[in-house]
Amino acid sequence: MVKLLVATRSPGKQREFRRLLAESGWEIAFPDDAGIVESSAEEGLELGESFQANARAKAEYFARRTGLVTVAEDSGLEVFALGGAPGVRSKRWSGADGPPDAVDRANVAMLLQRLTGAPETKRRARYRAVIVLLRTPDAVPEVFEGLCNGRILEAPVGTEGFGYDPVFYADQLGKGMGEASPEEKDAVSHRGAAVRSLLAALGPPAP
Ligand code: IMP
Repeated sequence: MVKLLVATRSPGKQREFRRLLAESGWEIAFPDDAGIVESSAEEGLELGESFQANARAKAEYFARRTGLVTVAEDSGLEVFALGGAPGVRSKRWSGADGPPDAVDRANVAMLLQRLTGAPETKRRARYRAVIVLLRTPDAVPEVFEGLCNGRILEAPVGTEGFGYDPVFYADQLGKGMGEASPEEKDAVSHRGAAVRSLLAALGPPAP
């Protein structure tokens, strides 16, 4: 099978990409599978001012190192009453350090604190995912986007998902993302939508 490099080290994103690409015909490789040891240079790939800029920087970095067909994704949560924050800063918004789960919990706590007492109209939010595809390291980048509309709950619910999912109510599901099965999340998520657009353009690997 031909390899597709999915340039993310996030355990939550890796689980979702595995599911979303399971029927694609591509063999998925993450940076570790391709022998790319994590380096401090990767920190600098997410300092851009847009999801697209960050996704492109990540795709170019990993495509050059592996020569594989590469996709990179940058995503985040946009809360309307917070002027679109945390947006491109979603991953490190609270400033907490440590394992991904601990960082996620700190981000969720900060979000709930910022919205303390806010009525439902002020809690509208959406997830956004931007995927950049590089068919070769020097190819023109192709861009795919997905959105997922909802609102921020007043307290965490459920145990599914990652990141801000415990406090994100997904309009299309009529329940919290933390209560959604993996299949339910994939059907309505920003990442699911972006990956479906990606696959429509990429198709299966050449035999
Ligand atoms: P990045 O794209 O690696 O910079 O990080 C995206 C960040 O946005 C994650 O660390 C989460 O905090 C948040 N995020 C993105 N997608 C999701 C999702 O599907 N559920 C919950 N949080 C998400």
